[in-house]
Amino acid sequence: MAKVIKCGKLFSATDGKIQDNAVIIVEGHKISEIKSAEGFVPDAGDELIDLSDKFVLPGLIDTHVHLGFCGKTSLTEVSEPSELVALKAVKNAEMDLLAGFTTVRDEGYPSITGCNIIRDAINDGLFSGSRVFTSGMYITQTGGHLEYRYPGETLGYSTFKSGNVANSPDEVRAAARLMLKYGADQIKVLVTGGVLSPGNEPGERNMSVEEIKAAVDVAKMHGKITSAHAHGTAGIKAAALAGVSVIEHCTLVDNETIKIMLEKGISIVPTFIVLKVIMEKGPAAGVPDFAVRKATALAGSHLANIKKAYDAGVRIIFGTDCGTPLTPHGQQAGEFELMLQAGISKTDTLLSATKYAAELLGWDDRIGTIAPGKLADIIAVNKNPFEEISTLKNVSWVMKDGKIYKG
Ligand SMILES: [Zn+2]
Repeated sequence: MAKVIKCGKLFSATDGKIQDNAVIIVEGHKISEIKSAEGFVPDAGDELIDLSDKFVLPGLIDTHVHLGFCGKTSLTEVSEPSELVALKAVKNAEMDLLAGFTTVRDEGYPSITGCNIIRDAINDGLFSGSRVFTSGMYITQTGGHLEYRYPGETLGYSTFKSGNVANSPDEVRAAARLMLKYGADQIKVLVTGGVLSPGNEPGERNMSVEEIKAAVDVAKMHGKITSAHAHGTAGIKAAALAGVSVIEHCTLVDNETIKIMLEKGISIVPTFIVLKVIMEKGPAAGVPDFAVRKATALAGSHLANIKKAYDAGVRIIFGTDCGTPLTPHGQQAGEFELMLQAGISKTDTLLSATKYAAELLGWDDRIGTIAPGKLADIIAVNKNPFEEISTLKNVSWVMKDGKIYKG
């Protein structure tokens, strides 16, 4: 027995075109065929799903989330019991799924194994949640981003004991191998300071090219990608020279590095929304002053810098940093509007959260498009996102792996 989905409009993300009156046939957890509704007669016993008043597209992919963080004013989860963080993370994955994000890339979790266990538990059907691509823990350095002391803590942030703090190429290699040993899908390195760490500045570069390259080498040996967190110009250049696969935020990228990124095929995940929200709503909500100050300084030129890279031909991929302050899981779709504001085309914006995102993960043989043989990750919205992008904030129907979770 197949599921037959009658679509009003269909954006399959295979070629950027919109089809009218298409029918998607789902058998088990995969898409088997796409046909025209005209003259189509379902087999007896097929389950008919009528989305003829809806706009249908592939399940969205958010390539930058933190399942271990809940969007509160500061990252309190780093000092909470790991069992509690895991329960919250499972809930976060469910909220992402119900918002239409059938796959998320976790960009660093507060323990090495936690996110891998959640990924596997969701895959095993123990919980409803997005399909998860993991980093294990972020690799940082003494005094670097997310390796800092919280007020009132005497021993400092526990990452120091976790094996993810690395201060030389050899230590980075060891840390990267540790992440892979416990099942990470990629390596994540923190190359510059960050907005949410009190002790460092986003503009400062905290890893050498040799250290970043050590992570890239280990990842490549295992057929994995390397993701670099970088805000400042010098850090972004170092990450590009080291040959990472993708640069997160990439806030203060300059023309010189854009050229290097183009030569090496390095993508950008801008995460516009988190800087904007912290800048605009942070002071009233109680986000620490240092974070508001840093977000405000960075947000000013972010959209324009990413536009320069986009115009030069660098691929921009959808990601939100949700879980960080004031961007809770399931409420990250405002990023789409910011991508359009930055000047990214509507088609590229939608492909960035589907086809391009799947290609970054190396999962484009399974997800990212609606095509025969792909997993049946399909969503529907009430309006045409090419006319009204904000409709993606209210996804009305969600199917993942051929199973309906919403609508
Ligand atoms: Zn992040």
